[in-house]
Amino acid sequence: MAKINDNFIKIPATYLFSEIAKRVENYKAANPQADIIRMGIGDVTRPLPKAAVEALKAAADKQLTSATFRGYGPEQGYDFLRETIVKNDYEPLGIKLDTDEVFVSDGAKSDTGNIGDILSRDNIIAVTDPVYPVYVDTNVMAGRGGNLAADGKWSNIQYLPCLPENGFEPQLPKGKIDVVYLCYPNNPTGTTLTTAQLKKWVDYALENDVLILFDAAYKAFITESDVPHSIYEIDGAKECAIEFCSFSKTAGFTGTRCGYTVVPKELKATAENGEKIALNRLWNRRQTTKFNGTAYVIQRAAEAVYSPEGKRQVQESIDYYMNNARIIKNGLETAGYKVFGAVNAPYIWLKTPAGMKSWEFFDYLLTEKNIVGTPGVGFGPSGEGFLRLTAFGSTENTLRAVERLKK
Ligand SMILES: *Cc1c(COP(=O)(O)O)cnc(C)c1O
Repeated sequence: MAKINDNFIKIPATYLFSEIAKRVENYKAANPQADIIRMGIGDVTRPLPKAAVEALKAAADKQLTSATFRGYGPEQGYDFLRETIVKNDYEPLGIKLDTDEVFVSDGAKSDTGNIGDILSRDNIIAVTDPVYPVYVDTNVMAGRGGNLAADGKWSNIQYLPCLPENGFEPQLPKGKIDVVYLCYPNNPTGTTLTTAQLKKWVDYALENDVLILFDAAYKAFITESDVPHSIYEIDGAKECAIEFCSFSKTAGFTGTRCGYTVVPKELKATAENGEKIALNRLWNRRQTTKFNGTAYVIQRAAEAVYSPEGKRQVQESIDYYMNNARIIKNGLETAGYKVFGAVNAPYIWLKTPAGMKSWEFFDYLLTEKNIVGTPGVGFGPSGEGFLRLTAFGSTENTLRAVERLKK
């Protein structure tokens, strides 16, 4: 009989979004008239930039003739896209990268999940808390979790609480760790780190041989000037960090699927025999073996995001969402709520009033205001007592929701 990877049965079924759906369905069944506004979704609602769709169509037409048809492409992505990424996302920040340090993929979820393939099972992993669940669950699947305790924490994973008390800045771990996931601007809290705050982590990582896995999926939403768009803006980061980026939230590619991961050639980690090995080589080996590249037509669409029209269209959508974020933040503050995030990210992290638990407040919003949020506790133990709202809806619904919340 084949044996399973037992780590998979250690992970409780992700009941967060199914539980939300169930509660909404039950409420709707009892109150068919209710006009429910959904502010829990982490998906974009605005369409793709026109420039991207035009490039996608033009690339699709090329598949009709054998002269221009594309079969298997390079597993790491086409040079036209890798060069465009380096030129537009890094050169303006003063960061020099070679194209073979950029790996195009079908998104940042896959890459942040798959990166564990090239890392030893023995690594001690640290995550901020609350956290994007992919980091934790993929490490548990790989056997790096240990056991799940009653407090919702895995015994072998270090949790770095991010709370109003510490300004949502994760404190450097006291014990030994090997790998840390940092996501800034942050999902779910919507907060971010300044350049000086991120520098502390880079310095710590260099001093302690720690690998930083930096998720920059929300960099396009940054509005403040002292917030880094890339971890490589900080000296030494190329020796300690991998950076994950995505077109999903930036350009509405959640259903189109494209992202990229930067693995600098300077970056090394230790083999069992003590030898220092370049992670670029290992990730390249991993990708060429297990991944056959992102579709040509999709890479052409991603390239078009960087054209002058593409950039303008992308910025329009970002501005639209960030205007929603401002509306929610201002409205909630006027109503007396304690609100975090919403300045450099499309997420609003809301302290529940009167010491309510996350789920209690979720039920209150659903039944009293007909608004659906995401209970903070679903993102980790330190999310208890918080709720996440997103700015990805329409401005019309956002305004209606804020009016209800003010009452
Ligand atoms: C949405 C999101 C991503 C993007 O994932 P894709 O697979 O590129 O769609 C990555 N990281 C975080 C934290 C996210 O919220």
